[in-house]
Amino acid sequence: MKGIKLSDYEETAGSAVIEEIMALGERLRGYSILHINSTAVGGGVVEILHSLVPLMREAGLDAAWSVLKGTAEFFHVTKLFHNGLHGQPVSITGEMLKAYSEVTHNNREIIAGDAHCIVLHDQQPLGLTAYRGDTKSRWLWYCHIDPRFAVKEVWYVLAPRAAVCDAAILHLPEYARDLPVLQYFMPPSIDPLSEKNREVTPEEYSSVLNKLGIDPEGPPVILQVSRFDRLKDPVGVVEAFRLVREIRDCRLILAGGSADDDPEGASVLAEVLALTENDPDIKVLSLTPDADLEINVLQRRADVIIQKSFREGFGLTATEALWKGKPTVATPTGGLKHQVIDGVTGLSARTTGEAAAQIERFLAQPELGRRLGGAGREYVRQRYILPVYLLNWLRLLNLLEGQRR
Ligand code: UDP
Repeated sequence: MKGIKLSDYEETAGSAVIEEIMALGERLRGYSILHINSTAVGGGVVEILHSLVPLMREAGLDAAWSVLKGTAEFFHVTKLFHNGLHGQPVSITGEMLKAYSEVTHNNREIIAGDAHCIVLHDQQPLGLTAYRGDTKSRWLWYCHIDPRFAVKEVWYVLAPRAAVCDAAILHLPEYARDLPVLQYFMPPSIDPLSEKNREVTPEEYSSVLNKLGIDPEGPPVILQVSRFDRLKDPVGVVEAFRLVREIRDCRLILAGGSADDDPEGASVLAEVLALTENDPDIKVLSLTPDADLEINVLQRRADVIIQKSFREGFGLTATEALWKGKPTVATPTGGLKHQVIDGVTGLSARTTGEAAAQIERFLAQPELGRRLGGAGREYVRQRYILPVYLLNWLRLLNLLEGQRR
């Protein structure tokens, strides 16, 4: 992100978007906004904040980002909240809530400073609402998960905390929930100029593939990029791939790392490695959090990109795939359903068998892949790129602050 200016996005986003950003930013000049999450590395929220915060500053806001410091026990609890929000049965004990409150208490200094607006990203920092009385700030809860299927054990813990905020932001209108606060809907975005998404040179392309031990030629590559998380169904991806391979020579790459606030990554990775050992056509890449260029090149190398999640708040990996014009297959769930539109920007698959069939369709019909991939890129350009996202943020803040300023 270093050295990238708002004007650099003009070519991609169009001048009207940049002009509106400058005009709305001017109205909010000096407005301080503090984003709080719980990890500096890994996952979609980090991806967003890395790019958004510097651009908010350029637009005139006094934007900051603080990371709550958790313990292993805290992250265990917040991962249970995460799974419960996604609808998995979980049991939350009094001890767990105590660990959550203790870490929250130890982090309460984060909110000192009276920013005009404090944004709590996801469930980890939501406990800080207990200290709202100590600030003059406006508080927003930004839920990056699809909460519709949240189990009550988790919803009844989180909802009262969210209710202390002025408003909640959810990715999609259908995610609206029974909260006694205003709810806004704002999907996230990818940064087209970041290491993860920018164009790469032929030298970078070859050198990264060489480093990762991937043949730039050879049989088609099917790819899923995701944290090693059961909700991303890596096992289902392996099974779908093996069905495709019965009829066609191809390879599978599962690329992912972990996030500091996700303690389950290591065990899921171990499961996937056990399932795929001795299979010469499957490569499991455990990436470091800074492997953005690697992910970029892998996505560009792929012939078909799959996102076989059971649940997905939005699914930025699909956004990244579509932005690169790739034939993309995804489960029609959460944000994936809005991005990978069957027969328009990609192909949908509900089951492992369907995923295999859709991958095979793309491999058998390269022209179909080119057409849907091209439509996918344009679809993302209009809706899910960083300047559009920044504009949505500025519109929301202007709306919220309108009467006050
Ligand atoms: N990601 C990454 N390294 C990995 C796995 C994922 O940088 O090993 C990135 C991925 O490219 C995407 C984000 O993390 O930008 C994941 O966002 P998404 O919304 O797909 O899922 P989440 O991890 O937030 O559930």
